[in-house]
Amino acid sequence: MTEQDKTICPHCNTKMKRWESPATYSWGTDHLYICFNDECEYYKRSWDFTLKKIGIKAGYRHRYDPNTGQLGPFPVNTPLAGKDGIVEE
Ligand SMILES: [Zn+2]
Repeated sequence: MTEQDKTICPHCNTKMKRWESPATYSWGTDHLYICFNDECEYYKRSWDFTLKKIGIKAGYRHRYDPNTGQLGPFPVNTPLAGKDGIVEE
């Protein structure tokens, strides 16, 4: 698998957005790829999952760190959270 393939969200097959913000550094990297597709199944079911699991209203989006190759959830507390960090390529 090439690096480019990993920037396609495996949950919705949408090209993920390059994301940079001051908060990116708390992830230990200078940029991430995040699926900002509001119709992504992973994202849509995350709200329900988080509410049932830990009783808070929050969700998460699919995240890919190109520096470490790590995949995982990117927590958000509103549908708009993080969107100001999108970098169009
Ligand atoms: Zn997705």
